[in-house]
Amino acid sequence: MSKFVEKSTKLNDVSYDVRGPVLDEAEKMQKSGVNILKLNIGNPAPFGFEAPYEIVKDLIANVRNSEGYSDSKGIFSARKAIMQYCQLKGFPNVDVDDIYTGNGVSELINMCLQGLVDNGDEILVPMPDYPLWTACVSLAGGNAVHYVCDEAAEWYPDVDDIKKKITSRTKAIVLINPNNPTGALYPKEVLEAIVKVARENNLIIFSDEIYDHLVMDGNVHVPIATLAPDLFVVTLGGLSKSHRIAGFRVGWMILSGDKSKVKGYIEGLNMLSSMRICSNVLSQQIIQTALGGYQSVDDLLLPGGRIYEQREYIYNALKEIPGISVVKPKAAFYIFPKLDIKKFNIRDDEQFVLDFLHQYKVLLVHGRGFNWHSPDHFRIVYLPKMDDLKYAIGSMEKFLATYKQK
Ligand code: PLP
Repeated sequence: MSKFVEKSTKLNDVSYDVRGPVLDEAEKMQKSGVNILKLNIGNPAPFGFEAPYEIVKDLIANVRNSEGYSDSKGIFSARKAIMQYCQLKGFPNVDVDDIYTGNGVSELINMCLQGLVDNGDEILVPMPDYPLWTACVSLAGGNAVHYVCDEAAEWYPDVDDIKKKITSRTKAIVLINPNNPTGALYPKEVLEAIVKVARENNLIIFSDEIYDHLVMDGNVHVPIATLAPDLFVVTLGGLSKSHRIAGFRVGWMILSGDKSKVKGYIEGLNMLSSMRICSNVLSQQIIQTALGGYQSVDDLLLPGGRIYEQREYIYNALKEIPGISVVKPKAAFYIFPKLDIKKFNIRDDEQFVLDFLHQYKVLLVHGRGFNWHSPDHFRIVYLPKMDDLKYAIGSMEKFLATYKQK
């Protein structure tokens, strides 16, 4: 057999449906000159959300200091700033050495799973999920076992479902809080129930908290690590969303709680961290600036702020469309509406978003792209400007007035 196969056989088992035929089609349409309205990716910068000026200024000021590699976990000032952030939030047992910077959270999701998962290990992952988690579990040789987040309960994780899905091979549970794609924010009681299950079953907790700053309506984000001093928790965070600098690739991973039983795992993480040498040093220089002082994102999330007003618009407009129901998001900038699949005869949600793309040139992501079990959801990123959102919702209304899947 030729060794120049099309794709590694390992990758054949990896599900990463958000990069599928719909995106290919949108790119094809764009190349042929069609203007596509993209409501498919959580990337604030192209929609007029500029990075804070102070960040750009400090980045420029540090170019000369950043020409060489850094410590593989990151520069001291950045890790110290993250450590101090942890102190203010109440993370237990976090020292500078417990912090790893990464080229975005994405790199660290892959790293923390590669270091843990052996073939056949099971990792509990939410459904719907941010699909990189599922893909990285598979890539590491494990099985992502999806637990349900319950739409009827504000999209909170269903703790009974979590309990049912634990086996002798379950090593860890993943949480995404605040959540992509649902925009949910988990209350303390739900987090405590998950901690209890993790404690009783000896599970590591991975908590993806990249949207921790992006919370609305006076709600407060509770990092699960603060509720679990006796467990080993890995929390992931970064600046892509809160500081509108997804392109700078700034993320980090925090190890907290009881590390006494995971020494080998931490050695593995140190090795993996060294194997990529270090994360982008120039980008690390702005972590200290970003985490301290005035947080410009706060204004975007208050009444009158763009994210808040766009959330209000999209939620109120969607719930008026016949055949759509929707839970109001409390955080991040995503909404995950439900379609009445009987009414529209929908069996394939990917076909649904493809049909919408062809007719109205608006790009969405189908629910099963987030490993959701049924073809009855889609996700909207509500970052584009209000006029564009109005066009998208008006188009959806017209589209659904006659849509019946063949
Ligand atoms: N985690 C979640 C839940 C996300 O939604 C995203 C990006 O959309 C990421 C991680 C990746 O972020 P980064 O830009 O830090 O790689």
